[in-house]
Amino acid sequence: VIDIKHLNKAFGQHEVLRDVNFSVKKGEVVCLIGSSGSGKSTLLRCINLLETPNAGEIIFNGNNILDDKHEVEAYRTHLGMVFQQFNLFNNMNVLANCTVGQRKVLKRDQATAEQNAKKYLDIVGMGQYIHAKPRQLSGGQKQRVAIARALAMDPEVMLFDEPTSALDPEMVGEVLKVMRQLADEGRTMLIVTHEMEFAKEVSDRIVFMDKGVIVEEGHPDDVLVKPKHERTKAFLARTL
Ligand code: ATP
Ligand code: MG
Repeated sequence: VIDIKHLNKAFGQHEVLRDVNFSVKKGEVVCLIGSSGSGKSTLLRCINLLETPNAGEIIFNGNNILDDKHEVEAYRTHLGMVFQQFNLFNNMNVLANCTVGQRKVLKRDQATAEQNAKKYLDIVGMGQYIHAKPRQLSGGQKQRVAIARALAMDPEVMLFDEPTSALDPEMVGEVLKVMRQLADEGRTMLIVTHEMEFAKEVSDRIVFMDKGVIVEEGHPDDVLVKPKHERTKAFLARTL
């Protein structure tokens, strides 16, 4: 689905991504790991064009979306994004959070949008909270709403940037459970995470980044259990 080729991104003189190449295939769950500052968020932000890469290609279903002529807005609707900080609209209730994008971006009518929102709110276990405002919810509940909101747009790929890092420890499990369920259903997912056990369980492939380059990638049993590179070994020794 997504093919990244020779991607480079710099902020001023600071090269944050250097010749990044990798792909996410349909139905695949790919976890992106690496130490703080290695460029993981920047890579996700480049993929959904919140940042503009300096060079390289992002091929989505065969089209390079960095070509000028490409429809950026249409492309973005194919990606569901979940952030560390939830980014819910605090002035809207749970249901409205999950319908506003469908109505404004996908031009769905209210009834269709609500029906779809409720379907995904049920899936993440938040069907009882449609009238609640975000401030009345725990962190884990907010994040599950954020996941439902992304799913309600019927994206082809879900991108997660450390969805559990801002949560109290007792709420991490409920969010990982939802993500595990999505992985089991065969959704295409690219997940930045520090949860190594989770990554090992759900991913088809692990990508390890360090200082803006992909050092190693492969099956979790290889990358996490028998890493080839010293930098991967050092990182895992620090985190496990
Ligand atoms: P973390 O695990 O802490 O989230 P990360 O791997 O996601 O780290 P990034 O957030 O992608 O790392 O940051 C990579 C580097 O790019 C860092 O050195 C950061 O300071 C720098 N950087 C990120 N965004 C910007 C920006 N908008 N302007 C300037 N520098 C930036
Ligand atoms: Mg980050």
